[in-house]
Amino acid sequence: MSTPPADDARPWAPSTRAVTAGRPAREPDAEVGPPISLSSTYVASPDPEARGYARTGNRTWEALEEAVGGLEGGSALAFSSGMAAISAALELAPAGGVVVAPDGAYNTTLALLDDLAALGRVVVRRVPLADTAAVLAALDGAEGGLLWVESPSNPLLDVAEIAVLCAAARERGMTSVADNTFATPLLQRPLDLGADVVVHSVTKHLAGHSDVVLGAAVTRDPGLHARLQRQRTVRGGIPGPFEAWLALRGVRTLALRVERAQASAQVLAQRLLDHPAVERVRYPGLPGDPGHARAAAQMDGPGTIVSIEVRGGAAAADALVAGTRLWVPATSLGGVESLLERRRRIPAEPPTVPEHLVRLSVGIEDVEDLWADLARALDAVAR
Ligand SMILES: *Cc1c(COP(=O)(O)O)cnc(C)c1O
Repeated sequence: MSTPPADDARPWAPSTRAVTAGRPAREPDAEVGPPISLSSTYVASPDPEARGYARTGNRTWEALEEAVGGLEGGSALAFSSGMAAISAALELAPAGGVVVAPDGAYNTTLALLDDLAALGRVVVRRVPLADTAAVLAALDGAEGGLLWVESPSNPLLDVAEIAVLCAAARERGMTSVADNTFATPLLQRPLDLGADVVVHSVTKHLAGHSDVVLGAAVTRDPGLHARLQRQRTVRGGIPGPFEAWLALRGVRTLALRVERAQASAQVLAQRLLDHPAVERVRYPGLPGDPGHARAAAQMDGPGTIVSIEVRGGAAAADALVAGTRLWVPATSLGGVESLLERRRRIPAEPPTVPEHLVRLSVGIEDVEDLWADLARALDAVAR
């Protein structure tokens, strides 16, 4: 839709493409951004590729797909939620095939894997994904199956060696899928690291305003794209046009939001290390973090999410969450507003997550306001 002029030797940077992608053609009096297309059907066309019906395609989704696909370096499909995209990606596993998956990851992804295993649809092998040797061992005998990667992981912020794992999966004829929700395509591009498919909860950083639930899957492989698209069409996990429009509106400011939130996350993580109420800080931006070197090698920044373990156990962690005024006690992440949550309060959260772990999603508020609020609530816990 909107490509740079042919005489422009230098390709546009990702932050520029986040602003320009998915624009309507530049014609006099045209809209600057895509309109919300609300038609459920289209005038009949002889073109076999035509949308035909709105469960198959929609101009507003396509604008969002151009933006997300362009940033990840592949071709994107928008879905009704992150889980709809994840569900479609897991359907890429062959019947009865092995899925090698993390023992700590987004809890609903793990729940879906359990459901699929209970139905006999797949055999799931859970591995600590940051332990490369353990993952490689689990890939043996998983030929033709699927590797699930989530890095940095939710909420432990474990960092997997994505290129090594995806190359090993490829050698075994496996399809690799990476959940890139935490990093965003601005900080990490798993397709460049060898993943076959990237999935996103667009709900989080990409949309960025805690006002929409949406997902995406991205691939460079036309065969995989066709299979994912078929899943979306036949199962019907399609986005609403208004949600797609809101998400693209969010993508326009993605670079600014991630830059600001990431800079604040680094400052907060560093200060949290020294607070007496904090037992451990998990953040790949800290030099002492186990994922630091890997993150520095494969990412363009450590991201906006920090997890802490609060001295005094679950009760102390609950007191911290209840004691803030600016930080909002809520699940989810990646929005303009800073949120915090003790993850194990959710019954489905896996036991690999410590009871006293609080996940902090850093927003774009003033970092000193964020620190003052957090420090005051932590002081009260320590007292
Ligand atoms: C939130 C989240 C999901 C699920 O996305 P929804 O949009 O809520 O369906 C998947 N993966 C990760 C890492 C998430 O944080």
